[in-house]
Amino acid sequence: MTDQPNIMIIGGGVIGLACAHYLIEKKARVTIIERDRAGDGASHGNCGLLYFSDVTPLCVPGAVGHEIIRTLKGTSPLYIKPTLDPGRLSWLLRFAGNCTHGHKRKAAKGKFELLSYSDRLYGDLLKSKELLCDYEAKGVLTVFKNPENFNGFTATDQFQQTFGIKSRKIKKQELIEMEPALGNDVVGAWHTIGDAHLRPELLMASWKNALTKKGVVFEENCRFLKFNQSCGKVDSINTSKGRFKADAFVMAAGAWTPSTMQQLNLRLPVEPGKGYSITMKPSKDCPVFPLYFYESNAVATPWKSACRLGGTMEFSGYDMGLNRIRINKIISGARQYLKNPLTSPIIEEWTNLRPMTCDDMPIIDTVPALDNLIVATGHGMLGLTLATGTGKAVSDLVYGKKPEIDLSPFSLSRF
Ligand SMILES: Cc1cc2nc3c(=O)[nH]c(=O)nc-3n(C[C@H](O)[C@H](O)[C@H](O)COP(=O)(O)OP(=O)(O)OC[C@H]3O[C@@H](n4cnc5c(N)ncnc54)[C@H](O)[C@@H]3O)c2cc1C
Repeated sequence: MTDQPNIMIIGGGVIGLACAHYLIEKKARVTIIERDRAGDGASHGNCGLLYFSDVTPLCVPGAVGHEIIRTLKGTSPLYIKPTLDPGRLSWLLRFAGNCTHGHKRKAAKGKFELLSYSDRLYGDLLKSKELLCDYEAKGVLTVFKNPENFNGFTATDQFQQTFGIKSRKIKKQELIEMEPALGNDVVGAWHTIGDAHLRPELLMASWKNALTKKGVVFEENCRFLKFNQSCGKVDSINTSKGRFKADAFVMAAGAWTPSTMQQLNLRLPVEPGKGYSITMKPSKDCPVFPLYFYESNAVATPWKSACRLGGTMEFSGYDMGLNRIRINKIISGARQYLKNPLTSPIIEEWTNLRPMTCDDMPIIDTVPALDNLIVATGHGMLGLTLATGTGKAVSDLVYGKKPEIDLSPFSLSRF
């Protein structure tokens, strides 16, 4: 590798931009290839939580049974479109197979390392005030309606404590004083103190701006088509705007990554997990804290510039249509907790696809037998949170340096 290698990143989402950030710090020359406009994928309208406390993977013992019961009751935020697609069926079976105590412990350990690494790096990144994104660090309140769930969360708290994650149990009266947007039906909340939040589309816009000033080239409306290989390396890529040569390539195309890797016979168990959000103008009736509604799995995030409700997980392939039923489900889910979920005029209704792996762990690895191609995807529900740690680790992999954290939990060889 030369001192100033030429690096091509495919995908202008938060993962692609974070990789570019740490590569440019190392003096690389970076180009981002983006099919649409950078920042318009899943990284645009997500809930904006920097959820550093979220060590527990989605696949835990009992997860499948719990969702089946909720689906039968009509209260599940999960929707799986009936399918005979072998890829999706195999993903679902593998997900179910990962719902074990062993996986939970192992995954949490790996996630914790990447979460705390990302937390430290976000601290440095946002200190400079270069990125204007309504960032606030006041934790997340996980709010409960059901007393059994509220008390049962003690077990989650104890599990999180084994990683040094601090939470505080807050009873109803204190909670309502702290968060006046909540209605009278809530029973309490757990406050994870170390979490933070920001407005993702503002982060994406100002990060893109800052990277452009530092010399990153954004090739937008430019679709990746294929890799060209020579002597065990990727030598160039074909795109809708022609051929690009580089010293190394980073594939960060989010939920769309699996199709880009098929040419290399690499089958990534990544399924698109569709989510929705509704963004409103700020108003005095918006919540004060970011709120995670435990029973409905919806989120409300307040910023200076807006307020957002978001959630749901739909496995229906790559369909990008905005399903009104799912939007209404988020609003009705939030209404069970908030006095008024729609506090002000709606400025955006949005949907996009999370890259979900079958073990709910990201993929950050060099492709076997092609040592200048790195994959960074599969960040599921936590891509914004894990972006900085991923970007820094990828920059080390590109330069052939040992990353500062153990990347084996995120390896391709685990599949
Ligand atoms: C409703 C919702 C709420 C969420 N809330 C949170 C949250 O609170 N906290 C959190 O941490 N995470 C959250 N997430 C998850 C987070 O948004 C994702 O994990 C993250 O945005 C993934 O980033 P990415 O860069 O991998 O993908 P994306 O942002 O989707 O970027 C991938 C990019 O690759 C481009 N691309 C694809 N194919 C090609 C091609 N062939 N050629 C060129 N470009 C291509 C796409 O156009 C896209 O811009 C949420 C997600 C949703 C849907």
